[in-house]
Formats: sequence, structure tokens, C-alpha cells
Amino acid sequence: MQCSVILLIIYLLAIPVANAKQLAITFDDAPRKADGYFDGPTRAKTLIENLEEYKVGKVAFFSNTQSFDKEGLERMHLYDKAGHIIGNHTHSHPNFLETGLSTYQTDFLQAHQLLQQFDNFKPYFRFPYLREGETVEKRDGIRGLLQENNYQNAYITLNNYDWYIEELFQTAVKDGKPVDMERLSNFYVDVLMASIKYYDDMAIKYLGRSPKHVILLHEMDISALFIGDLAERLRQEGWEIIPLKEAYRDPIAKYQLAQPIKYNPGRIGEIALAKGQKKNLWHYTLDESYLEKRFNQEVLLMSDR
Ligand SMILES: [Zn+2]
Repeated sequence: MQCSVILLIIYLLAIPVANAKQLAITFDDAPRKADGYFDGPTRAKTLIENLEEYKVGKVAFFSNTQSFDKEGLERMHLYDKAGHIIGNHTHSHPNFLETGLSTYQTDFLQAHQLLQQFDNFKPYFRFPYLREGETVEKRDGIRGLLQENNYQNAYITLNNYDWYIEELFQTAVKDGKPVDMERLSNFYVDVLMASIKYYDDMAIKYLGRSPKHVILLHEMDISALFIGDLAERLRQEGWEIIPLKEAYRDPIAKYQLAQPIKYNPGRIGEIALAKGQKKNLWHYTLDESYLEKRFNQEVLLMSDR
């Protein structure tokens, strides 16, 4: 083989690495309140079926064990039995900015114990509100506890306000407004894709590459309804869905900010902040009034006037 041909092959092999476009899917707050469009069991069944039908593979559910009433616990067992990862999201979802270190640690440990019943429990910890401790003492205190218990900080890179789209949807349903599900799906997918692109571009700007990403979603009805549509659009735009374990093999998994911060935009935002970016660490789609306006126009077809 000619040298130039070999060089060309090496070059072509290198391209997918430079533009990896890979992401892992995670759902927080499981089992989240379900008393609107779907009841809890229907949500879980729909979500599991769509994950299978659209070949998403195994995802991760970050659980608040305080929500383990009979139905909630059954829902968690459905996810576990379907082979999805169950991770720790604390017992009661405390806001670390308003909670002392020892109370927070107790809450974490309570969840840790209750999660042992799941075959697919893995020591991944997702900080509620992504808040990791605003003082050195709190930050290092929780880091120490995670280390003692062999936990990985289950950081995210792709931030969004999917929970607010759910709220708009559930309110419209409750108010008896006609919701066109195809329009809702398009709205949901469009908004998420815009934020995904934003954080991937930010990563490329500061890292010089597209890292293995982790998207933050929530265990909700719109996730159950439209995860397949999101997966299809991701693939159309060249994305590959990967297991969470693989995502955390990226070198950014070891990244740690020098100074503690109050509000964490996600790991790409943290890296941008450390490199001097002060503004726009949250994408403009992470805004309640922006989403409400678009939802009214694009899903409910309400005019401005
Ligand atoms: Zn949460």
C-alpha cells in the first residue's frame, strides 16, 4: 500500500474522534410525581417500551428514595428489571445551598442504603440542582464521602429545562386545552437539540474536541412519550447514544474546578467558566418565559395578541 493511501486511512479514522458526537442519556428524580397525563405505571411502561423500540439501549435513572411509596417503588423495580442503571440522587433532593454538610451527608447515605435493593444499582451520584457545595468545606466534605463509598460524581454536560416543558404540558392538559402531540414532540426535540448543539459547540471551543457527553433529562411523561423521537433526531444529526459508563471514561470526568461555585451549569459550563467565560453558561432555552412563549405559539397555536 502506498504511503499516501495509508495516511489517508489514518486521517479518515481520526475524523470520528474529532467530531465524536456521543452522548449518554440520564433521567433524574425517579420516581417523579405522576398524576397527570399518565399514571406512574403507564409512564414507566411507555418509557421502557420506547427505549427498546428505538434501540436507545440502557440508560440511567437517578433516584430520590423519599419518593418510594408503593407505586414509586414498583416503578423503580420496572426500570431495574429492564436492565437500566439506578443511581443515587439523594433521599429528599436537598438544595445544598440551604443544607449543612452533615445533614446532606446523612441524606445521601439514606438513599445509598435504600438503593441496595436494586440489581442494577451503581455508585453514581447526581447532585440535586447540580449544586456541589459552595464552600471548600462542604465541597470537600461531600467529595470525601463519595470517595469513601466508591462513588463517581455523575456530572452532566448537556443542560436543559425539560422539566418546565413537562409543567407547561401538564398544565395545558389539566386546563382542558387541546395539545397536538406531534407539535409537542417537535417542540420538545427542537428545544433539546438547540441546547445540545450549544454545549457541544462550547466544548469544542474550550477543549478543541467534542467530548463524550451526558444529557440531563427527568423521569416524566414527555420523556416517556418522546424519547424515541429525540433518539431518532439525534441519529439523523450524526449523534451516537452510548452507555453512561463509557461517557465517564472521557478525560473531563476527572476535571475539577479550583474554586467552589454556587450555581453549576454542568461540566462544559464549568470548564468555560474556568477559562474565563462569564456569560451565557446557561443556554437561552433554559428560561421559563422563553419556553412558555414558544409552547403557546408552537404547541397550543395561540397568537401573540
Ligand atoms: Zn433532581
